[in-house]
Amino acid sequence: MKFLEGKLDDIAAGREAPLSRRDLTDILESGPGIDGPLFRAASAVLGRNSGPGVYLRGIIEISNACQKNCFYCGLRRDNPGVARYRMNSREVMEALTHGWNAGLRSFLLQSGERLGGDFIEEVCAILAECRSRWGDSVRMVLSLGELPADVLDRLREAGGSRYLLRIETSDRGLYDRVHPCDGIHDWSARDACLRHLRATGWQTGSGVLIGFPWQTASVLAGDLEYLVDLDIDMCGMGPWIEHKDTPLDKVREQAPPRARRVSLTLRMIALLRILMPDINISATTALQTLDEEGLEKGLEAGGNVFMPNLTPPGYRADYNLYEGKTAVADDLESMITEGRKRCESVRRLLVLGDPGDPLHYGRRLATEGWMSGGAAPGDAIGGRG
Ligand code: SF4
Repeated sequence: MKFLEGKLDDIAAGREAPLSRRDLTDILESGPGIDGPLFRAASAVLGRNSGPGVYLRGIIEISNACQKNCFYCGLRRDNPGVARYRMNSREVMEALTHGWNAGLRSFLLQSGERLGGDFIEEVCAILAECRSRWGDSVRMVLSLGELPADVLDRLREAGGSRYLLRIETSDRGLYDRVHPCDGIHDWSARDACLRHLRATGWQTGSGVLIGFPWQTASVLAGDLEYLVDLDIDMCGMGPWIEHKDTPLDKVREQAPPRARRVSLTLRMIALLRILMPDINISATTALQTLDEEGLEKGLEAGGNVFMPNLTPPGYRADYNLYEGKTAVADDLESMITEGRKRCESVRRLLVLGDPGDPLHYGRRLATEGWMSGGAAPGDAIGGRG
């Protein structure tokens, strides 16, 4: 413990102190005494690299239909209790415009995984409309599941800048345990999809589910190493939360208690911040759902993104990934006011009017030589104001 505290103190002071897989596992398994040094180190790393800014990403949950059947998710295909919906383009544009007028410059269009019909065409049309209205001043973020490479390429051409696809767990055996073995839930395909996103110029985000049954600290340490190896630009990871209409709920007693899931999530955020100083990390809604002060704690652990929900209230209750989903307030203006207050309570600054590109993305584009051929539209570099 003293050895780990010493390493974390070195990191806080800006001295080199690499963390091994064993160190990561031990920190995740340590008693509460490790939290002070860990969060101080993460906070120092964040301060040196990205500063105190907290960037907003407005979420619009455009559809809750999904072809998949993940054992932990309330939106799974075989849950008959979900009233499926799909927002139309006008509703999506209204929500986006509302966010734009309030100063948001980054928007996440999120849905279950759905192929077929005209869904993708409609999303492409929305992206094109946003580009024509707001040009390069917004980042359109997509989280639409694991899509074929050609579909992702079309979305990128239409104006998508960032894509979020959580790997959920880096452990293939565990992945197979929490997904059906039916040919469409394949860890390798998901990993390949992430690598395609990263190789084709998307700002690439991933993340994992934390504290579900059978997951060990060593697996979580492996998750951190996976995210580093993938060289992501953004991360969203939150605690597992039960949903009564899912298979995983049947073994809920095998998961750590909720307070432990919160603690593990905060430690994962802090460790990832240390390992990847210049990426964007969100303080997720799931974290806020399990802990009233989840936003503040997530920021103190090294997070720098806050995601207000812009989904029209009539749809929100049906986007039920897990039970009890919460929000810091109901309407956008109150969310911003409340979010600002909470950020300031932990000496952070809520930033409006800036898409908040992860510094990591600009650096890797430069390293990989993308800049010599010119960045694709929507690829503003740095841009933190
Ligand atoms: S986690 Fe995503 S892909 Fe899996 S069932 Fe839920 S919405 Fe669908």
